[in-house]
Amino acid sequence: MVNQEDCFNPEMELMSRREIETLQLQRLKATVEHCMNSPFYNTRLKDYGVSAENIKSLDDLKRIPFTTKQDLRNTYPFGIASVSLDKCARLHSSSGTTGNPTVILHTQKDLNEWANAVARCLYMVGLRPNDVFQNSSGYGMFTGGLGFQYGAERLGMLTVPAAAGNTMRQIKFIKDFGTTALHAVPSYATRLFEIMQQEGVDPNRDTKLKTLIIGAEPHSEEQRRKIEEMLGVKAYNSFGMSEMCGPGVAFECKEQNGLHIWEDYYIVEIVNPDTLEPVPDGEFGELVLTTINREAMPLLRYRTRDLTRILPGDCPCGRQHKRLDRMKGRSDDMIIFRGVNIFPIQIETVLMQFKELGTNYLITLDNSPKGDVMTVEVEVNALATDDFGRLATLQKEIISRLKAEILVTVKVRLVPNGNLPQSEGKAVRVKDNRKTLYNS
Ligand code: ADP
Ligand code: ZN
Repeated sequence: MVNQEDCFNPEMELMSRREIETLQLQRLKATVEHCMNSPFYNTRLKDYGVSAENIKSLDDLKRIPFTTKQDLRNTYPFGIASVSLDKCARLHSSSGTTGNPTVILHTQKDLNEWANAVARCLYMVGLRPNDVFQNSSGYGMFTGGLGFQYGAERLGMLTVPAAAGNTMRQIKFIKDFGTTALHAVPSYATRLFEIMQQEGVDPNRDTKLKTLIIGAEPHSEEQRRKIEEMLGVKAYNSFGMSEMCGPGVAFECKEQNGLHIWEDYYIVEIVNPDTLEPVPDGEFGELVLTTINREAMPLLRYRTRDLTRILPGDCPCGRQHKRLDRMKGRSDDMIIFRGVNIFPIQIETVLMQFKELGTNYLITLDNSPKGDVMTVEVEVNALATDDFGRLATLQKEIISRLKAEILVTVKVRLVPNGNLPQSEGKAVRVKDNRKTLYNS
């Protein structure tokens, strides 16, 4: 069980289910009331006959219509805001991985609460004011920069705002400043290790790193374990998105068995993405979030398009805030290949089981006269790349294990370490060159 001292905010972190739900209902009603100040929600809620008075239980959340990314785009840039611009202190926009950027506004109170949420997450995994926290996120519009910055400062750590890229400098900072905790996207964490190896830096011997915060992109349990082993750290999964502030939405505790979502900030629902009906705990579906602690731009039943599930049962840490399973990906990451639905993370899970393989891989889809072809390129780690016999056996084994997982036969290309493209931000795992009715 968790002690008061293990919590940044014991009052909120140690609430019982009943207390959480009471607070949620109170905050939901206040949020709906406040949303009447938003030109967008005012019309939308009136159209659906929703007002704060007819929210009598958490179940009444279902009366509220969903908000979509398209709604954010249609009202770009400020049309969903529930306060006037002179009350706002900052805006962020999503990195636009899947289309036009969207804008999220924050008041000073929102920024303050966001920093508290991030500090709570970092404290939960054991970080304390005597830690040195280095952030390798891009600063600026990307919320992983300032989001972690203010959270780590709020906790009271010495912060190193190294920002993205310049790996040699990043490693120098880790060594010189005695960095104990690092935030990095998982693909960059591996990259960092490769460069350390090239430079003869042993993370265990030459650095004080003990904690890694990894997130912002889907990654498998296998990839996490590889990262932990390579760098000699504990790596914790961090989930967030610009629309929900950024980092600090859901975070693993020391148990590393799912991400606690802070229910004093968000009401969580998992729905079937086709029927939009709720699915039971334990079943995968689309994550839908309602902000209940935000001033500038609350979002009601926002469809995140991220696919996950609520893990049933209690966490041994004692916190009652629900746990999300690691993200399977976004509904728009799904590859439809020869009629089969495949998530890149399924492929990654298979690849990471081979100790000979690195963590960088690329899935390419092409048309051919005989039908579509999927090629999986993956970097080979510690193998002598001129041992052709061994490579051929390895290649066959990968093809067969992939077939067992995704039910289709793919081509596999093994490439020497460092030969696949590296991105500084989120990794690009799929290149779709197919010309189809949907994709031409
Ligand atoms: P964009 O939507 O343009 O990528 P964001 O920076 O807001 O910009 O990214 C948020 C998205 O990143 C989430 O919706 C989710 O798809 C992904 N993401 C964030 N954290 C994780 C994580 N820990 N695991 C998997 N995916 C994540
Ligand atoms: Zn826990």
